Amino acid sequence: MEHVSSVIATVHEIALKGGNRGWFERTLMQNVRAALRGLPVAQVSLPARVVVRFSEPVGWDEVFGRLSTVFGLNGIMPVEHAGATYDQLEAFVGERLGDLRGATFAIRAKRSDKRFPIGSGEINRRLGAFVNERTGMAVDLSNPDLTLHVLVQSDGIWVYRDHFPGPGGLPVGSSGRVLVLLSGGIDSPAAAYLAMKRGTKAHYVHFHSAPYTSDASVAKVERLVRVLVRHQGSCRLAVVPFGECQQEIVASCPERLRVVLYRRMMLRAAERIARRWRCEALVTGESLNQVASQTLENLAAIDRVAHLPVLRPLVGLDKQEIIAIAERAGTFELSILPHQDCCSFLQPLHPATRSTAAACEEAEAGIDVEDWARRLQHDAAVTIVQHRWGSEAGSGGA
Ligand code: ATP
Ligand code: MG
Repeated sequence: MEHVSSVIATVHEIALKGGNRGWFERTLMQNVRAALRGLPVAQVSLPARVVVRFSEPVGWDEVFGRLSTVFGLNGIMPVEHAGATYDQLEAFVGERLGDLRGATFAIRAKRSDKRFPIGSGEINRRLGAFVNERTGMAVDLSNPDLTLHVLVQSDGIWVYRDHFPGPGGLPVGSSGRVLVLLSGGIDSPAAAYLAMKRGTKAHYVHFHSAPYTSDASVAKVERLVRVLVRHQGSCRLAVVPFGECQQEIVASCPERLRVVLYRRMMLRAAERIARRWRCEALVTGESLNQVASQTLENLAAIDRVAHLPVLRPLVGLDKQEIIAIAERAGTFELSILPHQDCCSFLQPLHPATRSTAAACEEAEAGIDVEDWARRLQHDAAVTIVQHRWGSEAGSGGA
């Protein structure tokens, strides 16, 4: 299948949203339109599923690649419109009998428009008999060589053969805004992907130790953001020089607490940025007990400085599961390129696994943490990253 004139996508969870349904649907339609920008779209509607009609045939790979980034879409199918009545459906199939390959087939009809006079069982039987008589192919409902799906909707009858998995989830923008603490590693981009999958719009903050280490992590994070932003069109990225603050922590605090103290400072600064951008939560890529800084005790000591909720979408996942998500997000290949994270800068040999908020507060007594948070926020370099389909360079400065 190279070109398509219409596409239908199924929508599962949105159907459950009761009173908010209209809002969810509008957000989803907006996101579908944005993802297809630049293609000859004639109409996007949502009678029971998302229906996209093009004014001229469009390459399937292009359409599928774009719709695969739209959270909220489940199955994605290239479809053909087969008229409005059963007779028109039969005539439509009759013209295409030559394309049907295989020894066995099945018809699978779904009637979402209950005003249509013929039930799905009856459509299966009548159309099945029609195809069987004219082609000699046998009906096999358990393991057919070919399945012809028929969807009866209020906008007519649609026929398709193949369906492909969409990304699922909820439309980005339907459940608030988050600020993701993004390192160059595997985990935080996967966490961003999952946060967007649950309908949040994601913005990003990255801390780097330049001038004390190379700023290679910054270029890497920019590339990661350009991949992640495909799900929502545009986002903000704050890049924060963290080296001086780290130097002060190193100079005046116990070595074992360093990483937890770095993380507490990051959270304080991130929270200020989040409030300015009206984000309602922070997101990190931490997963319980993955590394020494991610014990329950350390996470508790880190969280104590935050007032916004800190979401950790990866908390219950093991590394293989996280890698699978990163691969689906398209970030894995970038994440495994070598870089030096600011947390490995002056990393202690024996990091504390059981720090407490009290011990951290005592360690921070000689540092003006609020002043640091203000300075870090002030020194953040902010860019707006935009995605434009069809152009390699999808980023613009702000
Ligand atoms: P990742 O793969 O995301 O780097 P990780 O398993 O390496 O995570 P840590 O290095 O302990 O774990 O970092 C835990 C989380 O803290 C990261 O997932 C990220 O959310 C945040 N974080 C760490 N370093 C940075 C950074 N330089 N800038 C912004 N956030 C960071
Ligand atoms: Mg890391």
